[in-house]
Amino acid sequence: MACPPLVNGRIWTLNDFEVGRALGRGKFGSVFLARERDSKYIVALKVLFKNQLEKHNLETQLKREIEIQYHLRHDNILRLFGYFHDSTRVYIVLEYAGRGCVYDLLKKEKKFSAPRSASYIKQVADALHYCHQKKVIHRDIKPENLLVTADDKVKLADFGWRLSDLFTFRRSTVCGTLDYICPEMLENRVHNYTVDNWSVGVLLYEFLCGEPPFVMEGPSDTMERIRKAQYKFPGSLPDGARDVITKLLHKEGNKRLPLPDVITHEWIVSESNKYEAASK
Ligand code: AMP
Repeated sequence: MACPPLVNGRIWTLNDFEVGRALGRGKFGSVFLARERDSKYIVALKVLFKNQLEKHNLETQLKREIEIQYHLRHDNILRLFGYFHDSTRVYIVLEYAGRGCVYDLLKKEKKFSAPRSASYIKQVADALHYCHQKKVIHRDIKPENLLVTADDKVKLADFGWRLSDLFTFRRSTVCGTLDYICPEMLENRVHNYTVDNWSVGVLLYEFLCGEPPFVMEGPSDTMERIRKAQYKFPGSLPDGARDVITKLLHKEGNKRLPLPDVITHEWIVSESNKYEAASK
């Protein structure tokens, strides 16, 4: 879809929007379906409470992260059209993704077929490669932070917003989900853009198997398995998928499969082609 007439540096207020049903709820506020009055353009309006942001000292970080997402332009990155505020709330105007988040889709459907998994992974890898070229590391790739549009396009959202964990509380771990964290971040070591490559491997595993590779009863067991990059494949997993996952879930960041090689991997190409052909 072409850019809506929402951009061009216009200053928005709540009066510019007709606000509809809630799309989701979180600790600092909620996300609503909304329509810009003049253009009738449909958006998602994220509403955050200033007092909550202040309490958690997150205002500066929020501004910085809004700024990052605002400047990224890629077919698989959720557009952030702008933001405004009143005395109590901050409003973020986002592209609307009609099918909601991948986390909810996975919860409902348990797992995805190989063609659909490959197609989604190809889109995520492409978006992340674009981010890395712009020196942006996402650091928080997980099904909660991926949205799907009505025409089945995957969109990366929540750009390093440390808020997202606090905001959603969807998983049961103490401080957000551990399942997608790579060994170097877990151990607080120096890390680089290859942290995202690791998460792509975890994501592909969860798409195909219905649960992430390192999930255990307690967080300390999960952490131990992540540190050792220790996981098992179910017997039914195709060789091509095993190959991609094994090459991404490497303990050492610089040995992880580069994202352009994920996109052109034989299994990813053949499976995603099947998916795209079936969707036509
Ligand atoms: P969040 O707190 O940003 O994870 O949003 C909570 C929920 O609101 C998500 O799980 C989605 O179901 C929904 N949501 C958030 N942003 C959007 C969007 N841009 N388009 C459609 N639904 C969204």
